[in-house]
Amino acid sequence: MANLRTKIVLEAFKKKAVDVPAPENEVSRWFGCLVFNREKMRRYLDPDTYDALTKCIDEGLSLDLPTADKVAAGMKKWALEHGVTHITHWFQPLTDGTAEKHDSLIEYNGRGGVIESFTGKNLVQQEPDASSFPSGGIRATFEARGYTAWDPSSPVFIQDDTLCIPTVFVAYTGEALDYKTPLKRSLKAVSDAAVPICRLFDPAVNRVYAYLGWEQEYFLVDEDIYAARPDLMITGRTLMGHESSKNQQLDDHYFGAIPSRVAAFMKELETEGYKLGIPLKTRHKEVAPNQFEFAPIYGEMNLSNDQNQQIMNVMHRVARKHGFVVLLHEKPFAGVNGSGKHNNWSLGTDTGVPLMAPGKDALGNLQFITFFVNTLYAVQRHNGLLKASIASATNAHRLGANEAPPAIVSAFLGRTMTGVLHDLLEMPSGTPIEISGKKGASVGAIGIPQIFIDNTDRNRTSPFAFTGNRFEFRAVGASANCAGSMITLNTAVAEQLLDFKDALDANMAEGKALDVAVMDTLKPLIASILDVVCFEGNGYSDEWRKEAARRGLDTETIVPKMLCEYEKKESVEMFTRCGVFNEKELHARNEVKLETYVKKVQIEARVIGRMALNHIIPAALDYQTRLLQNASLQKSLLGDEAAATELALAREISALIADIRRKVEGITEARKKANKLEDKFEKALAYSGVADLIPGIRKPIDDLEEIVDNATWPLPKYRELLFIS
Ligand code: ADP
Ligand code: MG
Repeated sequence: MANLRTKIVLEAFKKKAVDVPAPENEVSRWFGCLVFNREKMRRYLDPDTYDALTKCIDEGLSLDLPTADKVAAGMKKWALEHGVTHITHWFQPLTDGTAEKHDSLIEYNGRGGVIESFTGKNLVQQEPDASSFPSGGIRATFEARGYTAWDPSSPVFIQDDTLCIPTVFVAYTGEALDYKTPLKRSLKAVSDAAVPICRLFDPAVNRVYAYLGWEQEYFLVDEDIYAARPDLMITGRTLMGHESSKNQQLDDHYFGAIPSRVAAFMKELETEGYKLGIPLKTRHKEVAPNQFEFAPIYGEMNLSNDQNQQIMNVMHRVARKHGFVVLLHEKPFAGVNGSGKHNNWSLGTDTGVPLMAPGKDALGNLQFITFFVNTLYAVQRHNGLLKASIASATNAHRLGANEAPPAIVSAFLGRTMTGVLHDLLEMPSGTPIEISGKKGASVGAIGIPQIFIDNTDRNRTSPFAFTGNRFEFRAVGASANCAGSMITLNTAVAEQLLDFKDALDANMAEGKALDVAVMDTLKPLIASILDVVCFEGNGYSDEWRKEAARRGLDTETIVPKMLCEYEKKESVEMFTRCGVFNEKELHARNEVKLETYVKKVQIEARVIGRMALNHIIPAALDYQTRLLQNASLQKSLLGDEAAATELALAREISALIADIRRKVEGITEARKKANKLEDKFEKALAYSGVADLIPGIRKPIDDLEEIVDNATWPLPKYRELLFIS
């Protein structure tokens, strides 16, 4: 018997891959064709304007209006050649996503017609009526003034018919209302703190860059099947659904062959990404069924983060062309892996020297160790804050679940680097550090084995792992703006580098040689991180939870409580000292986070209640009616002893329905109580209690799914959501 659900599933199964025409030329010929990059600047701007603009970009200066007018004229010419009709300031508000308000290029020409107009003023600054974006009370709506200003270090790009200008979004009083502003401040902070240290090793260094390479995980679900799941449509995750008999236990999905519909989607996604200058490099199947991942070649962090935000938008659009919906929720399905976004992070100098990888000689290696140890010490000092930086209502379902990083921020170094740190502690300060070959290091030197450089060991259970030339922050959620966590990491490292430099200066003042002074300053840090933040074992184990608490690491698991870290004295000091956030901004942003948390849980609680009452219980009653009719028939024809099983089933259904109703009433009451709370933190805390009630409603629903006949069940099941692509 085919019901609506099975019809949808059958149709979805029959869908074929959409034909994606191959581009006419090699990628290298058209890569970045929709970006106003340096090559376009050279072509469309006169040499003086080109020089002025590139100077602004390289030195982080702002553009004067006459130059902006000339830049705008060149951009307009380029944009019109691409059929552009609109412009938008493109920004990253605190809503996790991007915002754009399109303005057409037309202006009256004074003769009854219109012309295309785009001036320096349009380019540089806009004042969107942005009163509905979260600001945490920084802008009361009656003075809803905020403005967007072009960030020339992020190139302008074209999306469909619109010229998109990446901007910061700030209040008139100067407070940041977005992710980009503080990210840029944190990049400056880390550079300012790192440069004086780098200059001890090479006086030619003028700037230090932070690099980001994100690995984006996601699920694909057929769009028709998705549309039959109100929970997925509204909350981004399934709030109910019994596990499929097969899910990921065979490990047959990871790195498996990519189905043709998905391959076509990926191909088009990459093409669109390449046009936008996003250097997508890897693509593969992930562990869970219908889960995939891609990653670009890493780049300067501000740009790389913009690109991640861009591609997340592109993913949604391209997926629909292929009859899919992309799920970026951190935990769309219970019982299989969730989706993260590994943030690969490193620092490097403007002279081209990576700071998170061994160097060319003993001095280079000492510089590497200096940055390596200070990074780890920064992570240790602010481990609770780093956890707060990735905490959200959606990521909460992933953290601490079996496959995800635990809700404790520790660091994994691998055997080699742990060994090197122990050696450093034991050997006298000033002992040279060598890259050692097969026979090990020379006598009296500390060796970093050559082979580790391209072959680091891996520990997938660690949230912050060293992988040879970078650290990988794995706790970031798939739907998050990477900036959220990167701002915190950059600032923590900046603060630690400032402290380190002070301590080093004190040691140098005693007349010690550089290598001795550096090592004397590092040794207490090394001893401390080996005792506290470094952990090589299984991060998923219960023993680790206990051990971490003993070591003084933050083990908080409740999101609103995690967020409190942002307003702790040490955090406020760190952010203000480095010029990344002032206290008002920190408080406002935390209010936004708490409010967002409340709203997300509130929506889930409503959705599960309605689905329980309007989808599940009616279906269960329908089946129960048939059972009872059958029992009644059996009894009349076969005698009173008949129909025992049917009656037992009918009773079981009644009990489950009663349980569901009682729990739905319970969650409604809990919500009402929470809604009365005025204090933002207290309310969020109460809502974390509401979130805890959701699995209790889910359980009897999933039990019913096992009892009610398949044809009557109204919602697509896990086996249909996860195995059709
Ligand atoms: P894996 O799955 O082994 O972690 P991937 O190739 O999927 O590796 O992703 C690794 C990411 O790390 C890529 O985006 C890559 O460009 C990036 N990456 C590599 N080296 C660095 C570095 N030094 N700094 C920042 N990111 C890096
Ligand atoms: Mg990785």
